[in-house]
Amino acid sequence: MTDTPTGIDLHTHSTASDGTLSPAELVQAAAAEGLRVVALTDHDTTAGWAAAAASRPAGLTLIRGTEISCRWYGAEPAVPLHLLGYLFDPTDRALRAELDRVRAARTVRGERTVDLLRADGIDVTWAEVLGYAAGGSVGRPHIAQALIRAGLVADTTEAFAPRWLGERYRLPKDDIDVFAAVKLVRDAGGVTVFAHPRASRRGRIVPDSLIVELAAAGLTGLEADHTDHSPAERAHVHRLAAELGLVATGSSDFHGSHKTVQLGAWTTGVAAYERLVSAASGVPPI
Ligand code: AMP
Ligand code: ZN
Ligand code: FE
Ligand code: FE
Repeated sequence: MTDTPTGIDLHTHSTASDGTLSPAELVQAAAAEGLRVVALTDHDTTAGWAAAAASRPAGLTLIRGTEISCRWYGAEPAVPLHLLGYLFDPTDRALRAELDRVRAARTVRGERTVDLLRADGIDVTWAEVLGYAAGGSVGRPHIAQALIRAGLVADTTEAFAPRWLGERYRLPKDDIDVFAAVKLVRDAGGVTVFAHPRASRRGRIVPDSLIVELAAAGLTGLEADHTDHSPAERAHVHRLAAELGLVATGSSDFHGSHKTVQLGAWTTGVAAYERLVSAASGVPPI
């Protein structure tokens, strides 16, 4: 377990998806926080990689990654889940095609969500949501911004309550089969870590039997230390990782002011970090 901060934070979001700092601001903030390693993991995109790399302060290592919207079809209805992909070749055609497809699905789902809200007389527009996304991957936090602007909720957390985006106005999007995603990232030279696998307060979670299958299919790690895990859930994920020979990570899942968690709030141990890096061959840490 990594109760001692190590300065290695492997899960953050920028304006390339639903964070509020630009990629350049994010790497600067990471260095200012005293982090040694930060991973940029925007939802279903590598669009922030170049700007983050160009602005990386000396002394900060950047891990280039993404957080992939996946689905497990072994339950009915299928369960959505997130995989962190790291250090893969961003020019890999098969992986790129799937990320492009999921980003398009985000746009479709976002517009439909706005239609649903408007049909109920709620004064939000697709144009403003696209404005909040500002060219990045469109996500529910951008719709949350519109609900805040309309004075209907106080903050992002309230926008995810069941009566809003958490349930009533929650639509599925066309995600990537989780086994296909593990293989795509591996084939592109990267490694995958299952993000917040026990975050039950956000929605349904998958059984450990799926994690056993994913480990056999090439998953490299489990994100154990995360704000959405209780202490018991963290301990469970650490145990499972040890049993299955998976790397256990800890990360903030920083989203700027869209969430309250701070950079470096959770960190990954040095040995775990080195295992991830040595298992990857797509692009190096920089
Ligand atoms: P999406 O990727 O569009 O389905 O939206 C998921 C994103 O919404 C997550 O990555 C978080 O940034 C945010 N999110 C999900 N659940 C919550 C919640 N309960 N409170 C605040 N933000 C949330
Ligand atoms: Zn997010
Ligand atoms: Fe996530
Ligand atoms: Fe995330």
